[in-house]
Amino acid sequence: PHPVSVSLLDGLDPDQRAAAATTSGPLLIVAGPGTGKTRTLTHRIAHLVTDHGVPPEQCLAITFTRRAAEEMAERLEALVPAHAARLTIATFHSLGVLLLRELHDRVGLGADFGIADPDRRLEIALEITGDAKQAKRLIEERDERYLKALRALDLVDFDDLVTVPLALLADDPDLVDRYRDRFRWISVDEYQDVDEQQYRLLRLLAPADGNLTAIGDPDQAIYRFRGADVGFFLRFKHDFPTAREVHLTRNYRSSARVVAGALQVIEPTTLVPGRELRPMGEHGDARIGLHRAVSEQAEAVFVARTIERVIGGASFHALDSGRVVEDGTQGLGFSDFAVLYRTDRQSRALVEALTTSGLPFQKRSHDRLLDRPGVARIVRELTFTPGDTVADRVRAVAGDDHTAYELLKPLAAECGADFERFHTELSVGVEVDTLDPRADRVSLLTLHAAKGLEFPVVFVVGCEDGLLPLRWPGAPASEEETNEERRLLFVGMTRAQRHLFLSHSAARPPSPFLVPLKEIERIGDASPRRRRQGTQLSLL
Ligand code: ATP
Ligand code: MG
Repeated sequence: PHPVSVSLLDGLDPDQRAAAATTSGPLLIVAGPGTGKTRTLTHRIAHLVTDHGVPPEQCLAITFTRRAAEEMAERLEALVPAHAARLTIATFHSLGVLLLRELHDRVGLGADFGIADPDRRLEIALEITGDAKQAKRLIEERDERYLKALRALDLVDFDDLVTVPLALLADDPDLVDRYRDRFRWISVDEYQDVDEQQYRLLRLLAPADGNLTAIGDPDQAIYRFRGADVGFFLRFKHDFPTAREVHLTRNYRSSARVVAGALQVIEPTTLVPGRELRPMGEHGDARIGLHRAVSEQAEAVFVARTIERVIGGASFHALDSGRVVEDGTQGLGFSDFAVLYRTDRQSRALVEALTTSGLPFQKRSHDRLLDRPGVARIVRELTFTPGDTVADRVRAVAGDDHTAYELLKPLAAECGADFERFHTELSVGVEVDTLDPRADRVSLLTLHAAKGLEFPVVFVVGCEDGLLPLRWPGAPASEEETNEERRLLFVGMTRAQRHLFLSHSAARPPSPFLVPLKEIERIGDASPRRRRQGTQLSLL
């Protein structure tokens, strides 16, 4: 064996190593939160190209968000700098763009077809129907008239990006063979959240005995409302009968009590029977705090005050043991805190409380970049000027709109001077990340947007019946919907490394998902209580 192979698999635990060392055939990696899925996936690809001579061109890695794809690209760049540029690391949609750029003439598109953003496609549909409601229906039902109008303008829309290549492949076995030959090693992260079109595309790209690696956690399936179906994960071994299955069970992210609490919450409806998740014990002994506030506003004030106190050097004090517990809260910055909520509306009270307290924060937007205020105008007014980079032009057109400029800056910088890519990326970016991991600010984000991230201190607010599970008045939730809401809380809780605070206001009854939780610590309003050392934060 190469010495290099030792170093690439060295930083992995035995299960991760077993997964990464499985270099051929279908592979299913069932792995709970914080078990190092990305690490395993990237090391496996690095191992394939360095130690097994797999041509990087034959490796395709698919992730769900642009940010995740960028992160994976960065890690591979560090692991295998000589090969990284030749790997294909894509989201499902950017893979669609790649396929369409090669197959455009088969569907009557020009080589530099455009991608219609939601405004543009509504405009096109409106021209046919004259009525906004019908126009939306036209788009949803993929009406012939709408598609024809789109193609006449040499455009595809967002939904086409997966469905058009899928239709082409489904009709042409030779084409399927061509791509199977090209992408012989395929890995898919967050496989629990693939939808039917994505699943069918994967089935075509990967033969039943092919080198397809699917990695994910059924208990973190949270995109059902968008068409994702965890059933595709659960039937992997049926679809790929020769698949090897590896479980990752060591959690490197969270304190023992956070792991235990999260498991208690998910246990009643877990999709992974006999699931194991063992904390590796590097994150102290802190308990899960539970706070009940009189109102949503008071709950937000509790969050702000707790952050203030901890940043100010207060230590946590476990009252039951009567001693100060080594808690590792020293040296935390604002960016170590995240506040998670079910619906964007809940962020209002938090924004107000944090602003009043003078705490710096950033809100992660779940929207597409194009839907952000000011962005559409800049993109519309952007013109190509020879000699100028995209970033130059964006700055000029943005003028005083600093917020929109800041949002567009990273993408613009990435695109250099090739404007076409800027437009394509903009229309393709499903959820553009407005969260800057380097900024020292408290992060406010929805539970959905928190997927895959980790923070030393996490608050999950609004743990109430009606918010978690979310229920619309007069609309009874199905069992499946309710289970997915429970998984959302599981995702939220497992973002925490050292401290986890769950809170709810008296406006509604507490969330039924809290019932199985043992060993939680009731916390008062976190107002300063002078003790001997002066700066301890009381947890009761
Ligand atoms: P999620 O389900 O939340 O997406 P994940 O399985 O993708 O979680 P990662 O984010 O890849 O988990 O890893 C969680 C943390 O554990 C990271 O901080 C990572 O660096 C660390 N980690 C992973 N594997 C190891 C290991 N073998 N030794 C030490 N730390 C590790
Ligand atoms: Mg992950």
